[in-house]
Amino acid sequence: MPVSIAVVGAGPSGFYTAAALIKSGQDCQVDIVEALPTPFGLIRGGVAPDHQSTKAVSRAFAKTATHERIAYFGNVHLGRDVSLVELRSIYDAVVLALGAPVDRELALPGGGKAGVYGAAAFVGWYNGHPDFTDLNPNLNVEHVCVIGNGNVALDVARVLVKTPAEMASSDLPDHAAKAIHRAPIREVTVIGRRGPLQAKFTNKELSELNDLMDCVPLVEAKDLPDEVTGRMSDRTHRLAEKNLKTLRGFAQRDVAERRKRLRFLFNARPVEILGGDRVEGLRLERTSLQDERAVGTGEFIDLPCGLVVSAIGYRMAPVEGVPIDAESGVVRSRDGRVEPGLYVVGWAKRGPTGVIGTNKTDGDEVAAQIAQDAGQGGKPGRRALEALLRGRGVRRVTFRDWQRIEAAEIAAASVGAPRRKLVRINDMLEILAKEFSGSQTNEPA
Ligand SMILES: Cc1cc2nc3c(=O)[nH]c(=O)nc-3n(C[C@H](O)[C@H](O)[C@H](O)COP(=O)(O)OP(=O)(O)OC[C@H]3O[C@@H](n4cnc5c(N)ncnc54)[C@H](O)[C@@H]3O)c2cc1C
Repeated sequence: MPVSIAVVGAGPSGFYTAAALIKSGQDCQVDIVEALPTPFGLIRGGVAPDHQSTKAVSRAFAKTATHERIAYFGNVHLGRDVSLVELRSIYDAVVLALGAPVDRELALPGGGKAGVYGAAAFVGWYNGHPDFTDLNPNLNVEHVCVIGNGNVALDVARVLVKTPAEMASSDLPDHAAKAIHRAPIREVTVIGRRGPLQAKFTNKELSELNDLMDCVPLVEAKDLPDEVTGRMSDRTHRLAEKNLKTLRGFAQRDVAERRKRLRFLFNARPVEILGGDRVEGLRLERTSLQDERAVGTGEFIDLPCGLVVSAIGYRMAPVEGVPIDAESGVVRSRDGRVEPGLYVVGWAKRGPTGVIGTNKTDGDEVAAQIAQDAGQGGKPGRRALEALLRGRGVRRVTFRDWQRIEAAEIAAASVGAPRRKLVRINDMLEILAKEFSGSQTNEPA
């Protein structure tokens, strides 16, 4: 009897795991259980809409999903539609590939004011994640502060300053395009507690800012060190050198070159959000670096701004029965083994680090662990989950269903754009109701 395995979460780590399990040669059946009707996790909902080539990896995942031993259970939320206890009683092994979808809190006085968002929510909004479609941020502002020195901060800043023409070949959803392109934003400041050498930007994302049509990237030359110093690996050293070179280029740019400005402010840590009910500014304290830590100098700056987006990291969302480490915000495990028969991969295991491909190693590792641990199988797997969901009236979305949703998105795209995203679950399910009136249970997965 094949070993039955549920992989919960259809992001990169879930798909790499499913592919590795099939490739491992084990006699197994793999069901991918996903909260949204749409697969691919942050590839659809996180990776910037103007970075379509990065999203192309989802084509390989789509191939995985249509493998005869794999089935997709979209629109099935662990913790709402099925509990972890139930899944573990149905499957021989359960792999948690849930990502880390919750913003680390910006614990500042005034952090609760209107106009302060975490990147998970803000990026989710401009990427059409159904949970954030109605975020409705007020973009009637001239100055935006983005807190954080990683690629997510650069994504947010870039998407806010690009022109409609620059976004024409993206899949920025209609609601976000309307709000962003009408906004009077003139300046975005990207703020880092530490210096340019400690920034986590990849050089490709940083250099890309040189090519913006309507916006000039700027940094004060005095904020840049003469050379790369400090304890770091060769790889980090090389990256810091490249980034320093790119930033030196930004320091030479003329503020008058373009209508909008994207400024980098290093060695400044946010200490208070200013304003009444709404954010009106950000108070920062200048820092100096001591043993790689940012230490306040007692010198303060107030930056007026109408929107603050913090991109300072992510943690897991709580799910009943899943042990989450309070400090790190990830699932407690020994190299991915949580409890007998329960495993974790991807950002839920490692936290929010690495690129899409980094998750592949987790998939390979967990496939080997399951092969070692799982024995003969024996639990009912797929049929039992189907019966449970049917009994609860849960509208499971199959991979074929998703392909119909995708076809509708592609058909509705404007010229040059890859798709017009559906951003509400009901609208996605309506497409299925319209296009398919038969019984979903007769459908191949
Ligand atoms: C804003 C942003 C931009 C990025 N840009 C890039 C980039 O340009 N290039 C790059 O290489 N990497 C990028 N990354 C990193 C990359 O997206 C991650 O490495 C990768 O997505 C992590 O994969 P994952 O499967 O662990 O998590 P995720 O991609 O988050 O997938 C988790 C999945 O689990 C599902 N899920 C969560 N809870 C439940 C539940 N209770 N029940 C069922 N399903 C659930 C979610 O809906 C989601 O589909 C970016 C990340 C972010 C945040």
